[in-house]
Amino acid sequence: MDLLQRAAQFLSQKGVPNPRLDAEVLLSHVLGCRRIDLYLRHDQPLRDDEIDSFRELIRRRGRREPVAYITGQKEFWSLTFTVNSAVLIPRPETELLVELSIRFIRRLREEKQGPISVLDVGTGCGAIALAIASETDEGVSIVATDVSSEALKVASQNASALNLHHRVCLLQGDLFSPLVGSQGEFHLIVSNPPYIARSEFAGLPPEVRDFEPRLALDGGEDGLHFIRSLLEEGPLWLDPTGAMFLEVGEGHKAPIEVILRELDSWGHWSWESDLAGTPRVLSLRPSAKDKGTVNTIQRQADLNG
Ligand code: SAM
Ligand code: GLN
Repeated sequence: MDLLQRAAQFLSQKGVPNPRLDAEVLLSHVLGCRRIDLYLRHDQPLRDDEIDSFRELIRRRGRREPVAYITGQKEFWSLTFTVNSAVLIPRPETELLVELSIRFIRRLREEKQGPISVLDVGTGCGAIALAIASETDEGVSIVATDVSSEALKVASQNASALNLHHRVCLLQGDLFSPLVGSQGEFHLIVSNPPYIARSEFAGLPPEVRDFEPRLALDGGEDGLHFIRSLLEEGPLWLDPTGAMFLEVGEGHKAPIEVILRELDSWGHWSWESDLAGTPRVLSLRPSAKDKGTVNTIQRQADLNG
């Protein structure tokens, strides 16, 4: 316990936000036990090699490396995901996106016969796609894309570990480019795209700024680069009865509404706030006008064979 106290003190001096909790998580990781077991075995002395390993992990945490990269794991939607420095560590607020997606899919299943097709753009460790897969049956097919092949390796590992590899098809490429030929086919497009503005990087916690992949965070000059592309291109890939759900950053509601009014291709949209009260998820339905556009494109594709 003295060891934990000293570790927590060291982490606190380094500015780590929850020093005691992190020290306990890292010690239980070294000992291969649950956190609660640390208290049950508090009188058992540690071996020298255990103390050495723990010290090394505490040193890494002191340099502000996130706990999830040190342990290689993160809980999301009550599932355990493997993570490494190629993927964003899934955030609790992203569970809102999953919750809304599952609700939408269930409603659609009641309303319509036949298979349902879901697309997760920028899947990272696979958190959103696999959480949805874990809550739905084989009638829901899921495609997940990422531009990073290193991220897709992690997603594939998670799909296998969760026994969901048969449910999710992983494709590599920029935004919708790996999906050519599937225009108008998706009933739900879901994405947590990179949305940090360039000017925000300096103010990010070191855990995020110095350790998480820039590729997963960088949303261009105003943070809206990928959101803008998804809003522009989304309707083309959606089934006319479909919807798109996007996670967005703080302060994005007003500029996104300007884009939406300019685009005119979304008939209806609404906002859901996270637990902190920040508008976090944007739900969109394509306008009737664009349903026509998609149908025209499909008809043209049919004509072209
Ligand atoms: N979906 C995961 C989650 O919610 O935890 C990861 C989201 S992370 C904020 C954004 C993801 O988008 C990263 O995995 C990144 O590699 C991927 N990405 C970045 N640029 C992309 C692009 N042009 N096309 C597709 N994916 C991209
Ligand atoms: N929510 C993440 C953060 O604030 C950013 C994730 C993203 O860009 N989509 O660090």
